[in-house]
Amino acid sequence: MKAEILCVGTELLLGDIINTNAQYLAKRLANLGIDVYHQSVVGDNTKRLKEELKESFNRADIVITTGGLGPTPDDLTKETGAEFFNKKMLLDEESLEKLNSYFLKNGKEKLKGNNIKQAYFPEDAVIFANDHGTAPGCGLDVNGKILIILPGPPSEMKFMFENSVVPFLKKYSHSVLESKVLRVTGIGEGVLAEEIKDLIDSNTNPTIATYAKEWEVTLRITAKSDTKEAALKLIKPMKNELYKRFGDNIYGEDDTSIEAVIANLLIKKDLTIATAESCTGGLIASKLINYPGVSSVFIEGAVTYSNAAKMRRLGVKPETLDKFGAVSKETAHEMAEGIAKTSGTNIGLSTTGVAGPGGGTPQKPVGLVYIGLYINGKVIVKKLESSGTRDKIRNRATMYALDLLRRELLKLE
Ligand code: ATP
Repeated sequence: MKAEILCVGTELLLGDIINTNAQYLAKRLANLGIDVYHQSVVGDNTKRLKEELKESFNRADIVITTGGLGPTPDDLTKETGAEFFNKKMLLDEESLEKLNSYFLKNGKEKLKGNNIKQAYFPEDAVIFANDHGTAPGCGLDVNGKILIILPGPPSEMKFMFENSVVPFLKKYSHSVLESKVLRVTGIGEGVLAEEIKDLIDSNTNPTIATYAKEWEVTLRITAKSDTKEAALKLIKPMKNELYKRFGDNIYGEDDTSIEAVIANLLIKKDLTIATAESCTGGLIASKLINYPGVSSVFIEGAVTYSNAAKMRRLGVKPETLDKFGAVSKETAHEMAEGIAKTSGTNIGLSTTGVAGPGGGTPQKPVGLVYIGLYINGKVIVKKLESSGTRDKIRNRATMYALDLLRRELLKLE
């Protein structure tokens, strides 16, 4: 089944807003196994919208529009859709009722004038409730050509897509699509794709897709079958093969986060942690604290930015700072050990580096970060060299430090 995405709004054409709706829908339709070969954007203009609907339906069975459902005269998507299919616009009493109570609840007077237009829909349309705003959407099947009309505001659009459109489209699909996502660190997308080229080339069900993110690559295995169980059965051997190839580089599955994985490892191994951060300025602590169950293992996070703080709070020796500098293997070592010992934790994790844009030297360029990890008396220091903006360098150092911690925790008995 082929679908097209058609976003309506002059703001989009003028570049005033980014078309995140198209991105979201494209991704979700791909997940659902619905092919999308074209996307288009059209302004708030009936004639051009009608032409675009014609073009899209020449190529596809499903057209999903977003935008143009508001109360103003230039919000025309439903009206144009109705005209396109020669359908009348009819008042839906239930939507009118909901709109009325929405208006009253939000302190406005009773619905009037143009707002009533939001309760009119093309004849025979299935109406999709909008629990996040005023404009309901709708779906219309005219001899196998399916028009789905959604609102423009992304939160409303997403809610409606997940709650109404996915179930609406189910009846047009006789197969089930299941996916498993594996999250990989420490291997770039290019290398990863090369290492699974044989699997990608020789498999059509399940398929594997790589997707590079800021500091990780995800591997999505997708299988299609008659039932969920059968699709999962197809995924399993592929998943096992990928674990065999990438082992501990896979840190988790589906929506898990690295902080959740670390927190669970710390809890399981009964270990506590404290952090001493310089260039990452609390990002590591903040990440760890993202995970709600971390309170039993995360004891303290210190942002020791100045040399004075490194000495006073962590006991870094003045000679170390004099001889090697704040950004050095030796300082990272003493910071990690210092925070663990003074906080009474099993683990201390430290960062010290040059986040830029200024402050770099030929010996210590912008992007150089040392990460110290103290675990039960043993200290490891890793050197990370990266480039980019201050934000990028700090974020990369944070994720690298967390991944180093995860890998070392896995090695512990
Ligand atoms: P409303 O009921 O609020 O008038 P609508 O369905 O008529 O909504 P538009 O008026 O076209 O939708 O857009 C409303 C707002 O939604 C835009 O100002 C913009 O912020 C956001 N929006 C619209 N289309 C998109 C899109 N394709 N991607 C991201 N945001 C969008």
